[in-house]
Amino acid sequence: MKETFRLNATAAAGLESFVARELRNLDIDNVTIDDRSRVFFEGDKETIAKANLWLRTADRVKIVVGEFQAKTFEELFDKVNDLDWEEYIPFGSAFPISKAKAVKSTLHNEPSIQSITKKAIVKKMQTAYHRPEGVPIPENGAIFPIEIAIHKDSVTVTIDTTGDSLFKRGYRQEKGQAPIKENTAAAIIMMTNWLANPVRPFVDPTCGSGTFAIEAAMLALNMAPGINREFLFEQWSWFENDILEKLKIQAKKLKRTDLELDIQGFDIDGSMIDIAKSNALAIGLGHVIKYKQMRLQDFQTSQLDGVIVSNPPYGERLGDEESVTQLYTEMGQTFAPLETWSKYILTSELEFESYYGVKATKKRKLYNGTLRVDLYQYFGKRIK
Ligand code: SAH
Repeated sequence: MKETFRLNATAAAGLESFVARELRNLDIDNVTIDDRSRVFFEGDKETIAKANLWLRTADRVKIVVGEFQAKTFEELFDKVNDLDWEEYIPFGSAFPISKAKAVKSTLHNEPSIQSITKKAIVKKMQTAYHRPEGVPIPENGAIFPIEIAIHKDSVTVTIDTTGDSLFKRGYRQEKGQAPIKENTAAAIIMMTNWLANPVRPFVDPTCGSGTFAIEAAMLALNMAPGINREFLFEQWSWFENDILEKLKIQAKKLKRTDLELDIQGFDIDGSMIDIAKSNALAIGLGHVIKYKQMRLQDFQTSQLDGVIVSNPPYGERLGDEESVTQLYTEMGQTFAPLETWSKYILTSELEFESYYGVKATKKRKLYNGTLRVDLYQYFGKRIK
């Protein structure tokens, strides 16, 4: 079986540079971003485990089995068949083609691409494991999900190592109606200036299920985001169990215990506060984050130099529009006295600044799932 790998970490559009930065901070080798914003890196099994355990902003980590050009189905079959599949997939494993995608390419019929890929791998496995051609090979073992992506005739074939997307940390049992994905939330925290000095107050006044506060605390305390979940690679026979176990033990030691954090979350809806509390408790942050039922309009403080991160309602549904724009206006009025605080507000409302009453210092385009949103950033005044 393989010992070194070419790897790809996928992420939501716009977050790739954060993933690359995280990988470099993990001392991982040869991290590159290609002209299609894809993040590649190299390493061994430990690298795969480490990336899955520690990446906060990525969706998944994939092994790149092959990259080549193909314009005909014959070419596709032959080149997929040529790859050393038996070095990755033990006999008896399941290898579904979980995704086939073609963009701007000669080959564009995705179901055909999917079935040709499958046939080419089956044939390779039959040869490699000396099974008679025409007799199906068993696939009742561990799963190796294969993805094939074709872009302008250039094919990339990968095996997923992650399983459930990395945004699932294992702490969010309940999420309410419009949660932000954990990996997007982590990236937004990295975009703020709070991490430069995380003992400053941090407030999410529309906290919902509590994601921003939890991700902020996990970042500040250097808690490994994946420590409470499982990964697909753990099921693979050639992936020694102790690789991940050792990294988890090390991760527990790397957690900071020297910081006194001041993190609060509010929501008008008491049932969301209950959910937020139980989520924080699930990841061991019950004593770190203070959640309270409160209207954001009632937020007042004499503290200085804090950071607000908020993902208020967007008013997607008909009839909501008026109350939402009213909320944005009241937000502007409530935050106005907090001159030294920096505020980061995520919304899909293109006219947000006019309701809020102040032009953002900076705007950043992001995606909350498939919804295009903007992060409106207001930098606090420096304390003299
Ligand atoms: N980021 C959150 C989702 C926020 S959805 C998460 O990851 O779960 C917006 C939240 O704003 C909802 O939970 C809603 O109850 C809350 N909200 C609406 N009006 C509010 C107000 N005036 N004050 C405080 N919270 C409010």
